[in-house]
Amino acid sequence: MNGKYPKDFWALVAGVKCAEIKGESSVKALADKVRAAGLTAAADEMEIFAKQEGHHGVILDELLKKYAPKNSASAQKTFVCKVCGYEHVGDNPPEVCPVCGQPSTAFEEKVPPAQKTFVCKICGYEHVGDAPPEKCPLCGQPASAFTEKSK
Ligand SMILES: [Zn+2]
Ligand SMILES: [Zn+2]
Repeated sequence: MNGKYPKDFWALVAGVKCAEIKGESSVKALADKVRAAGLTAAADEMEIFAKQEGHHGVILDELLKKYAPKNSASAQKTFVCKVCGYEHVGDNPPEVCPVCGQPSTAFEEKVPPAQKTFVCKICGYEHVGDAPPEKCPLCGQPASAFTEKSK
């Protein structure tokens, strides 16, 4: 067999085998993760594929390479069409709005909801979020020791 197959053939087989062992549920879990990252099209494809051919792990890998964002999902921007409210996630707005046909100039970058900063009164540790942490990771003070920092 050796020589008849490309060098990475057995790596592919190993990948398929691995996916077979993990089974359909892990594919679904992965699809959920991809969906959470805003890659709905990829997640849909994965779920269909999970139902039909849960053992073709290689295809999954290709999907991931094709759709996986270069940066973390949180680094992506959301652009909102001012005319119809369509939301597009990516580095740039789409050329035209797929819903109402407006050009990219009709898109505005969506600003994420303002997060608060809480400062520990004891050690000055700053925590960003909707609420103070349960406990200060530096000095161990409870949430009540935190005050919201004014901007
Ligand atoms: Zn639109
Ligand atoms: Zn502290």
